[in-house]
Amino acid sequence: MRLSRYFLPVLKETPREAQIVSHRYMLQAGMIKQATAGIYSWLPLGFKVLRKLENIVHEEQQRAGHLPMLMPTLQPGELWEESGRDNSYGPEMLRVVDRHGRKMLYGPTNEEMITDIFRSHVGSYKELPLTLYHIQWKFRDEVRPRFGVMRGREFFMKDGYNFDLTKDDALHAYNRHLVSYLRTYERMGLKAIPMRADSGPIGGEDTHEFLVLAETGESEVFYDSAVTDLHLGDREVDYDSVEQCQAIFDEWTTPYARTDETHDVGVFANVPEGRRRTARGIEVGQIFYFGTKYSETMGALVDDGKGGKVPVHMGSHGIGVSRLLGAIIEASHDDKGIIWPEGVTPFHCGILNMRQGDEAADAACDALYAALTALGLEPLYDDRDERAGAKFGTMDMIGLPWRITVGPRGLKNGVVELTSRRTGESEELPPEEAVAKIA
Ligand code: ATP
Ligand code: MG
Ligand code: MG
Ligand code: MG
Repeated sequence: MRLSRYFLPVLKETPREAQIVSHRYMLQAGMIKQATAGIYSWLPLGFKVLRKLENIVHEEQQRAGHLPMLMPTLQPGELWEESGRDNSYGPEMLRVVDRHGRKMLYGPTNEEMITDIFRSHVGSYKELPLTLYHIQWKFRDEVRPRFGVMRGREFFMKDGYNFDLTKDDALHAYNRHLVSYLRTYERMGLKAIPMRADSGPIGGEDTHEFLVLAETGESEVFYDSAVTDLHLGDREVDYDSVEQCQAIFDEWTTPYARTDETHDVGVFANVPEGRRRTARGIEVGQIFYFGTKYSETMGALVDDGKGGKVPVHMGSHGIGVSRLLGAIIEASHDDKGIIWPEGVTPFHCGILNMRQGDEAADAACDALYAALTALGLEPLYDDRDERAGAKFGTMDMIGLPWRITVGPRGLKNGVVELTSRRTGESEELPPEEAVAKIA
């Protein structure tokens, strides 16, 4: 992409409404624009990152054997009357009435709708196990929308639902989700720690939240520092293997890690003192096992193969896809701007032309652009007729992992400058070598 043809409305001034760095940088880098409280338009750069995160979530869910689908944003009120949550969900739910006077709502989550789909089409244990998910906009009329996309009212969420014959099968689905989430966050360059949490209004027995440690996080967390040393890396996982998923679950959940809701001072005292940590965290996902809560009330029953009908065991599993943009920036930035992890960066590399209109500089930039593109990489070429200072400022703010700076002086010696955004280290080298380093 050439910056002269892109839409990147970088703000010169610091937006005053932003209280935390991720919100400020997303506004300054021209990624989002607030439409009204807690509701945002996603401008091209923000949308590009959102799509990358969405793709990672899709890939990892499907790797775990979960099936993608899409449910609508608007739901009929009757389903929520059936489950009883119409009353209990409270004012976070945005209710609307259509022209015929029918009660509808903008979905804050989809347990009712998915259970309705399930009971309409599945009647036998032979069709289990089944896990369906979608990535769709949600609406929750939060009392205090704030921190930009971190606590929006409209937000983008992956929610998945497992249906199993027995509790044991459903616990395997729970573990499978835990493993797939670990991999998802690692690919995004994040350390997200599963912590035992409280189940809240969805109701249930087992639940873990995934937290990214950050001072600006809204949750207080307590953990054994040993948990932060764990990595899934690229180990092979057979998601159908009960033993493998259980082993990974055990590995991550044996060290103490809890949110304030479930924190137990007595148990925490058993963690060696030097490893006890109290910190703040951002909730980027949550997994639940809630058994037959919805299948019983809504009649989602299957033949058990022994002549009886039993309610299915279910769980629901969410990832805050739009919140993740904020969480990633909170975890990865400096005072000049964002530092995107490689796996989610909107462009792989910036090309910065120090002397737009200089024949040699223009030609060298075009050649770099072509070479990077041919390798399947996406460069962002700052070809604007702007001061070098402004170009550097923009590149630092939008945080691409690499920058290639091209100027007439270097070109006379056959070199360009390659700079890592993360380390700030630069080296001069021939253009082909710069391309090879990035690829
Ligand atoms: P929170 O405790 O932050 O209000 P939650 O526990 O109500 O979140 P869940 O029902 O667990 O949220 O939804 C799954 C995920 O969706 C959360 O882990 C979070 O990452 C994301 N999420 C929830 N509410 C919002 C919001 N208002 N804005 C952006 N993302 C959100
Ligand atoms: Mg909430
Ligand atoms: Mg929560
Ligand atoms: Mg939650």
